[in-house]
Amino acid sequence: MNLAQLDSSLIWHPFSKAKLSDMPIVIKSGKGSYLYDEDGKKYIDLISSWWVNLHGHSHPQIAEAISHQARELEHVIFADFTHKPAIEICDLIRKEINGDLTRFFFSDNGSTAVEVALKMAYQYWVNKGEGKRKLFLSFSGGYHGDTIGAMSLGGGSGFHDIFKKLLFDVLFMPYPETWEGDENVWQKENDAIEKLQQYLLDYKGQISALIIEPLIQGAGGMRICRKEFIQKVIKMIQEQDILVIFDEVMTGFGRTGSTFALQQIGITPDFLCLSKGLTGGFLPLALTITTDAIYEEFLVDQHLRYSFSHGHSYTANPIACSAAIASWNLLMTLETQEKLQAIHVQHQKEIKDLKKHCKNIVKTRVVGTISAFDILMKNNDKTSIQKIRQNLLSKGLLMRPLGNTFYLIPPYSITPEELNEVYQIIANEISRQ
Ligand SMILES: *Cc1c(COP(=O)(O)O)cnc(C)c1O
Repeated sequence: MNLAQLDSSLIWHPFSKAKLSDMPIVIKSGKGSYLYDEDGKKYIDLISSWWVNLHGHSHPQIAEAISHQARELEHVIFADFTHKPAIEICDLIRKEINGDLTRFFFSDNGSTAVEVALKMAYQYWVNKGEGKRKLFLSFSGGYHGDTIGAMSLGGGSGFHDIFKKLLFDVLFMPYPETWEGDENVWQKENDAIEKLQQYLLDYKGQISALIIEPLIQGAGGMRICRKEFIQKVIKMIQEQDILVIFDEVMTGFGRTGSTFALQQIGITPDFLCLSKGLTGGFLPLALTITTDAIYEEFLVDQHLRYSFSHGHSYTANPIACSAAIASWNLLMTLETQEKLQAIHVQHQKEIKDLKKHCKNIVKTRVVGTISAFDILMKNNDKTSIQKIRQNLLSKGLLMRPLGNTFYLIPPYSITPEELNEVYQIIANEISRQ
C-alpha cells in the first residue's frame, strides 16, 4: 500500500465528497508559495492552504521561533498562569488597532473565536439583567464556522442545512453583494436596510448582537459589499444598543489591504474574532478581542454576577503564540506591506485582462490581496467547474472554487512573475471551455 492508499483506508477528510476512486495528493514539503508532492511535482498555493498561510510555506523565521519556544516552554495551563508570548502578541495587536478593543481571549480556531464572542455577547446582557436578548442578527451567505453556535449564525449560507433543527434562531438579512460594473447596488442595499429596520422594530429589546464578515464574505463565495453600507448598518445597530461582532477570521492580517478590515471601515466593534492568519498558517490559534466595557460586566464583585465559563485545554499555547509573534513581525515589515499593495494593484490589472480574454467570466471583484470572479455556466453544469479545477491542478495551480466562483487568495510571498503566469494559465484554461 502506498501512502495515498493507506490514507484512503484510514482518514476522514473535512469538506470532501469522498468516493471510492478519490485519492488525496500526498504533500511532502512546502517552500514559499509552493507545495511539493511525493513525486516532486509542485503546486502554487493560490488559496494559502484554506486562507491560513501569509508569508509562504515553512518560513524559516517562524520555524525558528517555534523551535526556540518549544525548547523553552511548550505549554502551561492558562487559568491563573500566564506567559510572555501570549502577552506579547496581544500587546502588538492592541497597539495596531489602537482603540477600545483591549481585552483578549484565546481559543484555538475560527469557530471557537465566534462561539466565544456570541456567548460573551449573550452573557453580557444576562449579567446586565437583560436576559430577553436571545436573538442574533446575521447576513445570508455569511459563514462563521462549523460548531453549533457558529453554524447557527451562518445558517443562511446553506452549508449546514442538514443540521437546521439543531440550530438556534437567527435573524438573517439580505447581503448586498456587488462587483465591478454593478448597477443595482443601491437597490440591494436599500432592500437590506429596510429588512433591518423591520427587524429592529419587530424584535426591539430581544437582539443581543449582529455578526458580520466585514468587506467580504469568504466561504459564501468571496462576495464583497461596500464599506459605506457596513458603516450605515453598524450605525443603526449601535443606536439601538445592540452589540457588533466583526468576524475577521478570514479578512484579518492584511487580506483586505489593511491589517484588519475594521481599520478601513473606521468603526470599532464590540468583538473582533481572529484566527486563520494569526500564526502565519503554522499552528491553530484564535483570539476574541473585546472592550473593557464588556469585560467589566463579567467582573465578580459584591453583586451576584457570573464570570465567563469557557476555556480550552490548549488556551494560548506558547508555541502557537510564538509563531503568531514571528508572523506579525514579518507582516509589519515594509517589504511585506509593499507586497500587499503590489498584489492588490496587479490583481486589478490582471482581472481586467482576464475578463477581456474570457467571455464567460462575470462579476469580477478585488479586495486587497483577494480577487474573485464567477464563471457563467452552460445549464449550470457543475462538472465543467470540476474539470477546470482538475485541469488547473494538473498544470500546478491549487485552487478550490466555491460553486461557480473562482478566487485567488495567495500567500504574500507570491512574486509578480508568478502571479502573472497564474492568470495566463487560468485565461487559457477558461477560454477553452
Ligand atoms: C474559516 C472561517 C471561520 C471558521 O474558522 P475555523 O478555524 O475553520 O473553525 C469562521 N469565520 C470565518 C469568516 C471564516 O472564514
